Amino acid sequence: MQYLESAMRIRILLLLFLSILSCNQPKNKKSETVEKPEPEVIIEKKVEFEYNSLYISDSFDFPVGKPDASGYYNAQKFGENLHLGDDWNAITGGNSDLGDPIYSIANGYVKYAQDYGGGWGNVIRVIHKMPNGKMVESLYAHCDTILVKEKQWITKGMKIGTIGNVDGQYFAHLHFEIRDDLDLPIGYGYSDNTKGYLDPTEFIKENR
Ligand SMILES: [Zn+2]
Repeated sequence: MQYLESAMRIRILLLLFLSILSCNQPKNKKSETVEKPEPEVIIEKKVEFEYNSLYISDSFDFPVGKPDASGYYNAQKFGENLHLGDDWNAITGGNSDLGDPIYSIANGYVKYAQDYGGGWGNVIRVIHKMPNGKMVESLYAHCDTILVKEKQWITKGMKIGTIGNVDGQYFAHLHFEIRDDLDLPIGYGYSDNTKGYLDPTEFIKENR
């Protein structure tokens, strides 16, 4: 009896401990890792921006709270927990930003706008060409809706989608990346190898 009681006590304590652990797990920190193996992402790579000089990206804004992320905070910065992007959330918390607008950070060309599935959900990938000829890509993930089409030219500040939560996998937020290597596959959202990735907030601040 004594033994049974203490075994049960240990079990209850263990369950309590596990539930505390899972409570402490912020939804945003959940890995964006896709469950399926890395596929061959066929993406139109370099676009002939020369024919569309109107779309040169000569300045960049933040993708939420147009134009300077007003009303939002970066819940998981680039590099934090090996995060390859920023996680933009409304300061009002939880799912209060579900359906909020996502804006293109600059003029550009939509190279991908599809539901990628897994932990990514709807993803928009935009190519930008800067006046110095340098090209970067902005990536907007977990979108609730996609409001642009692939191969579409877009302008800075255009509403391109809305903030989502990938069917409740996270609290609603925008996972946002900027890359200077246009040839990377979608990836995993987290890595200790940051080659080809830029700190999005730093990049935007330097190129307002
Ligand atoms: Zn993220």
